[in-house]
This record gives sequence, structure tokens and C-alpha cells, in this order.
Amino acid sequence: MKEHRPRVALVTGSSRGLGRATALELAARGHTVAIHYVASAGPAEAVAEEVRAAGGHAATFGADVADAGACAGLLTEVVGELGGIDVLVNNAGITRDALALRMKHDDWQGVLDTNLSSAFHLSKGALRGMLRTGWGRIVNVSSVVGIMGNVGQANYVAAKAGLIGLTKALAREYGAKGVTVNAVAPGFIDSDMTAGLPEALRTAYLAQIPLARFGEPAEVAKAIAFLASDDAAYVTGQTLVVDGGLVMP
Ligand code: NDP
Repeated sequence: MKEHRPRVALVTGSSRGLGRATALELAARGHTVAIHYVASAGPAEAVAEEVRAAGGHAATFGADVADAGACAGLLTEVVGELGGIDVLVNNAGITRDALALRMKHDDWQGVLDTNLSSAFHLSKGALRGMLRTGWGRIVNVSSVVGIMGNVGQANYVAAKAGLIGLTKALAREYGAKGVTVNAVAPGFIDSDMTAGLPEALRTAYLAQIPLARFGEPAEVAKAIAFLASDDAAYVTGQTLVVDGGLVMP
């Protein structure tokens, strides 16, 4: 790739949690970062300010990634404002938990649209620019439950397992063009998403984690930043599990 500008990274759902930590990590490594949100405009701007205060470059973008048209609009805006997209981190995600027999169709579809279809639409759009420059990195944020399953999360587990499949398919299609596509599968990480876990469930999960603690968003961010870097040039189609040892295939 011709290095005429700093690499631009779009991190979806970077107003909070893992996405925020990833945007900060990529900014610290010299990327211009597109901070993305759907509702948290203020927190997204605060992340951008944090990047700028540290001497980096960032801009904020709002879009509902469950909507294919909004995904296209987001890509157009980021490319227009920042000059391209070299690194795409498909991180935005939601849960709508229920046992399968009680799961409403909207909760199934909403999670699939937000957590899986968004990654397809955004990857498809971002790939065009990456193929033009001959360099690109896509990192999909899956989950250990996409590997091992989980009770009450048929929608979420299906989406996260789907992301691992999408990762492998895109890795095979575009590897020869200089684009790597990988996934990370975090275990239990302290964020808004896990803050509501009942204490009994938290204790039960902790008992199964060899490192005996939940992870920090920054620990996942470092794994994502590695996959987005030149250091991971010969790694594609892989799922890097970041879970304190919970799952050992
Ligand atoms: P949070 O709930 O803390 O943050 C979710 C982020 O996604 C927010 O930035 C939110 O934006 C954004 N988002 C949600 N829905 C949409 C939407 N429709 N369109 C655009 N953006 C949206 O989640 P985490 O940081 O915990 O999780 C981040 C990712 O990591 C998710 O994909 C999650 O499944 C995955 N993961 C998390 C684990 C954990 O233990 N926390 C474990 C394994 C995987 P806004 O702030 O505007 O609402």
C-alpha cells in the first residue's frame, strides 16, 4: 500500500466498551480512527476528544448498522471525511436473550441484523477500497459462545458463529489481494453488556475461567490491534480466543 496518509480504522460501536478500547488502542498505534455509535453521540465525541488529547486523529459517525442502507451511508461518510478505510473492525453488537421457545421473531432478527448482517454489508463496502490499495484488515468481533453455545442466546450464538464463518469465507476470497480477515472471540469481559449479569451466574462463569477473572476491554483491544497490524501479515481466516482460558479447543 502507498503510505500517503495514516491508516484509517473504522471501529463500529466504539462509543463504549470493547469498541472504545479498540479505537483508543488503534489511535495510539498511529491510526486515524472513525468512532462510531448509534445512540451515544456524547460518549462517542468524548472518545474522539480522548484520541485528540493524546495527539491522534478521530472523527465521530452515527449510524444504525442493523440497516443495510445506513451501513452504506456510514462507509460513504467515513471515506469522504477521512479519505478511505484500511482497517474495519466489526464490533457493534447487542443481546436480546431468551430461551429459544420464548424468543420473539423481532429479537431473533434484530440480533442477526445488528451482529452479523452488518459485518457482511460493511465488509463488502470497505473491501472495494482495500482491493484498490492492495492492503486491508477486517477484524470481526465474535464471542466464545459462538464456539461453545450458550443457554438463552440462540440469536446471539447463531450470529457470533456466523461471524466466524463469514471470516473464513472472506479470508479465502480476498487473501490474494492483500486483505486479511480474522475474528476475535472474547470470553467474559467487563463492559455494559456484562454489567447486568446476575451475581450467581457471574460466580459460576468465574469458576470455569482458568485466569479466575473477567477480562478488560483493553485486553481484547490489543488482540484486535495485533490482527489489524503488519505483524499479523501471514494470519488470515483465524479466530483468536481472548477469554482467560475458558474455551480450549
Ligand atoms: P456494549 O454494549 O458496551 O457496546 C455496544 C456498542 O455497540 C456501543 O458502542 C453501541 O453504540 C453499539 N451498537 C449497538 N447497537 C448498534 C446498532 N444497531 N448500530 C450501531 N451501533 C450499535 O458492548 P461490548 O463492548 O461489551 O461488546 C462489543 C462487542 O463485543 C459486541 O459485538 C459483543 O457481542 C462482543 N462481545 C462482548 C463480550 C463481553 O463480555 N462484553 C464477550 C464477547 C463478545 P451506542 O453506545 O450508541 O448504543
